[in-house]
Amino acid sequence: MRPHWIIDGEVYCEQCAPADVEGDLNSNETDTPQNCCQCSRLCEYCLTEGGVRYVLETLVDALADGIDTGIIDEPGDYYHGSRQVEILVDWAKDLRDYSLNKTQQFIVDTFLTEATKP
Ligand SMILES: [Zn+2]
Repeated sequence: MRPHWIIDGEVYCEQCAPADVEGDLNSNETDTPQNCCQCSRLCEYCLTEGGVRYVLETLVDALADGIDTGIIDEPGDYYHGSRQVEILVDWAKDLRDYSLNKTQQFIVDTFLTEATKP
């Protein structure tokens, strides 16, 4: 994952940030994963406790609703040609860096198993 900037409330990855961008890289903890508003690439972030809960709830919902295997058709998008679920797979993989309890770990493992089935 890469550094990113917040400009007018929008997340930009290194490649998409305007060339004349000023200010510091965003390094605050956030309540949601940070995908670039231009290309969807996942940027470097650190989740708050609420943010970890938010991602876990999203994974549980995705498991309940069924894995979205639709292909993303957004030329220029980082996920172009990938299945919709790949965005959540990246979120789930990132959660492994946090200290999770057994239930939370189970959710992440179950999701990744289901989401990466061919
Ligand atoms: Zn970008």
